[in-house]
Amino acid sequence: MASKDVLAKFKAIVGEEDYWDQPADLALYSFDSSVENPVLPEVVVRPESTEEVAAICKLCYDNDIPLVTRGSGTNLAGSTIPVSGGCVLLLTKMNKILEINTDDMYAVVQAGAITLDIANAVKEAGLFYPPDPGSQKMSTIGGNVAENAGGLRGLKYGVTKDYLMGTKFCDMEGNIVIGGGKTVKLCTGFNLTGLMVQSEGQLGVMTEFILKLVPPPKAAKSMLVSFKDIIDAGNTVSGIIRGHVLPATMELMDNFTIKTVHEATGVELPTEAAALLLIEVDGHPAVVEEEYAIVQKVCAENNGEIKLANTAEEREALWEGRRKSLSSLARLRPTLVLEDATVPRTKIPDFLQALDDMRKKHNLEIGTFGHAGDGNLHPTILCDKRDEEEMKRVHACVADMFAAALKLDGTCSGEHGIGIAKQAFMVDEVGEGTINYMKAIKRGVDPKNLLNPHKQAI
Ligand SMILES: Cc1cc2nc3c(=O)[nH]c(=O)nc-3n(C[C@H](O)[C@H](O)[C@H](O)COP(=O)(O)OP(=O)(O)OC[C@H]3O[C@@H](n4cnc5c(N)ncnc54)[C@H](O)[C@@H]3O)c2cc1C
Repeated sequence: MASKDVLAKFKAIVGEEDYWDQPADLALYSFDSSVENPVLPEVVVRPESTEEVAAICKLCYDNDIPLVTRGSGTNLAGSTIPVSGGCVLLLTKMNKILEINTDDMYAVVQAGAITLDIANAVKEAGLFYPPDPGSQKMSTIGGNVAENAGGLRGLKYGVTKDYLMGTKFCDMEGNIVIGGGKTVKLCTGFNLTGLMVQSEGQLGVMTEFILKLVPPPKAAKSMLVSFKDIIDAGNTVSGIIRGHVLPATMELMDNFTIKTVHEATGVELPTEAAALLLIEVDGHPAVVEEEYAIVQKVCAENNGEIKLANTAEEREALWEGRRKSLSSLARLRPTLVLEDATVPRTKIPDFLQALDDMRKKHNLEIGTFGHAGDGNLHPTILCDKRDEEEMKRVHACVADMFAAALKLDGTCSGEHGIGIAKQAFMVDEVGEGTINYMKAIKRGVDPKNLLNPHKQAI
C-alpha cells in the first residue's frame, strides 16, 4: 500500500488532471480485452513526457510499488491487468507523431500514438507503414511493440518488429535508455530495440519509437474466394505459398463466422460457403498480374470460386467484413475465448482438421477466422464464463489447441502474447532452459520484479 505521502508525489509528477486514486476511476483500468478477472490498481497516472515516465518509474522503484504500463488495453492475454495492484501508467497522452522523414523513410512517434493515426499520417506523406492489427483504430504503437502485433498484411510485409528501427525507454531506476537509431545499419552495443519487442511491459516503459517506412505498392488486386469444403481453403493457402506467391493478405473465415458477420453487419458474403479466403496481391502492376494468374490456377485446382473486387468500395467492404469478425461473434454469447495458436503455413489444413475434431470432442461452438497465410488462425470459442461446466470444456479445448499447434511445429501465440492467460503453456513450447534465461534477463533489469509482475514466466 502506497502511503499518502507517496501518492502525493505521483500527483506532483503528472498534475491533478492526470492522477486518479478513487475506486470508480481505478475500475476502468482493472481489466483489458481478455477474459481474465479484473483487479483494481492503487493509483493511475497519465504522464506526458519521457522525463515524467522516468520519475514515475523511480518513485515506484524507491517505494516497491508494482508498475503496469498500459496503452489502450486491447490486448487479449490479460497483459495489463494489475494483478499485484500498484500503479497503472497510462501512455495515452503521449500520442504525438513527432517526425515523418520522407527522404530517409522513417517516422518518430510517441508510444501512445494510435496505430491507424500513424498509418494515415504516413500515407498522407506518400509512404506506407504496413502493420495493421485488427485493433488499429484503438491500439497504441507502444502496445503493438510490446506485443509484437501482427495484422492482415503480415504474410508479405511482416509484423511490428520488422518496422522498428529504434526506441527510447525508461528502466525502473528512472534511467532513460536508447536502443537503435535512424540509420538503416546500426551495430552499437546490444540490440536493445529487439529486446524490447514482445517484452509485454516487463523490461521497461517505452516512450518513443523510430519506425521504418516503405514505398506504397503501385497496384493491388483483391478477391474473395469461396469454398464448399474448408480443407480445400487450407490447401489453397498452402498451394499459393508453394507456388512462391506471397499475397499481401490471405485471410480465412469459416462458415460460422461468415454467417455471423453477414447477419451482424449486412456485409454481402456467400453465407452458403464452407469457408472464404480474402486474398490481395500487390506490387508492380506486371507482378500483380503474374501473381494473380498463379492464385487463379491454385484456386481452380482446389475448387475455389473467385469474385474480384472491382472498385475501391467493393474492396473496402471485403476487408470490413473480415475486420468485424470478432465483434460480430461477440454478439452471440457473453464470453469469447479467442486464441492465436499458429502453425507453419503449409500445415494449415492439418490444423483446421484438428480444430474440427476438437469442436466435436468438447461440444463447443467455435468460429474460426484469421491470418491463414501466416499460419495464424483465431479459433474463437463462444461460451459463458458463469457456466463452470462449460468453462471446464473450454479450458480443455484450449489446452488441446496448443498441444495440436506444438505437435505441428507451431507456437502458442502468433501475435497476442502470453500475458497471464497462457503462462502454463509456455514451458511446453520453449523448455525450462529458455524460461530460466528469460528470468535472468528480467532479474537483471528489474531486480525487484515490479514491472508487470506475474506476467509470462515470472
Ligand atoms: C478487436 C481486436 C482485434 C485485434 N486484432 C489484432 C491483430 O490483428 N493482431 C494483433 O497482433 N493483435 C490484435 N489484437 C490484440 C491487441 O490489440 C494488440 O496486442 C495491441 O498491440 C495492444 O495494444 P494496446 O495499446 O491496446 O496495448 P495494451 O493492451 O494496453 O498493452 C499490451 C501490453 O503491452 C504493454 N505495453 C503497452 N504499452 C507499452 C509501452 N509503451 N512500453 C512498455 N510496455 C507497454 C502492456 O504492459 C501490456 O503488457 C486485437 C484486439 C482486439 C480487441
